[in-house]
Amino acid sequence: MDTKSQKTTNFKRAIFLSWYCSKGDCTFCYMSTQKNLITEPMKARRRFESVFAEAIITKACGWDVEFLSGGYDSYTKDELLFIIKTVSQITGEKQWLNLGVLNEKDLTLFSPYVEGYIGTIECINPKIQKIVCPSKPVMPILNTFRICDKLGIKKGITIIIGLGETIDDFPKLSEFIKEHKLQRITFYSLNPHKGTSFTSSPKIEYYVQWIEKTREEFPNLEIIAGAWHDKTRYFSKLLLAGADYFTKFPALKYFGTKKAREIEEEVKFANREFLGTLTKIPEIDLDEEVNRLDITDDLKRRLKLKLNEYIEGMKSTNDDK
Ligand code: SF4
Repeated sequence: MDTKSQKTTNFKRAIFLSWYCSKGDCTFCYMSTQKNLITEPMKARRRFESVFAEAIITKACGWDVEFLSGGYDSYTKDELLFIIKTVSQITGEKQWLNLGVLNEKDLTLFSPYVEGYIGTIECINPKIQKIVCPSKPVMPILNTFRICDKLGIKKGITIIIGLGETIDDFPKLSEFIKEHKLQRITFYSLNPHKGTSFTSSPKIEYYVQWIEKTREEFPNLEIIAGAWHDKTRYFSKLLLAGADYFTKFPALKYFGTKKAREIEEEVKFANREFLGTLTKIPEIDLDEEVNRLDITDDLKRRLKLKLNEYIEGMKSTNDDK
């Protein structure tokens, strides 16, 4: 039997909790162009119903939640706990957190609902890392890794390819994965944002090289690879290079569009079975999905309204985007 043809893949949907970041100065990041515009982090956050509706849609489309991201300065710890717990209840799975550096008290509080913690290393070349992430030193991330080890929480990192590193830096990545016993890595190809100093994305061949080398050296590492919606034709190459899953595609905005269909074709081309869908509107029993959650009746009511809004939005997307 050809086991290759049975290999599956899925879309990993990162759920963002806020559009504020207290660092806000990573030189490649969209947030660095927005920070001065946001003065009240507590207001730059999503409503609970919006986050939970996205989690329900994610599950209904057969996707996985990649991680819960951002929001550390925009919610109280109890609110964050409520979000993590409820998203776990929705998906039936513990979550990965990409919330920045966490202390032992907070991570212990969240830990019953947490599978893994993501350290946003971004660039494996330490000199470049210091320049592109001036307020995000690596040491506090490593301290959080130590807390993860104590609590039995898995560890992963995010790496953006195209920030100035070269393939000669690969041994540094390899060393880092081994030293910190990572279970997961998410690669992104730099997506240059207007207003930042970056103007181009790396070539696909170079991006693929990082994934191939990582897969070759770490057969059991979970590798997730991201590409923006203008690079849908990357996906088969990323999967063929050894990525387990793909991410970053704005799946709700482009649901059922030509770009979404292109990705489904790319998955087939890579000889993978796609566990989710980017094109078929999911059937959701709103009462069943919402009423089982440990949330207030008022939040249930708002969540149903939000879900309807999302579903109508997905129905309205079309090919001329
Ligand atoms: S990369 Fe992360 S930490 Fe850096 S500015 Fe962007 S959101 Fe903030």
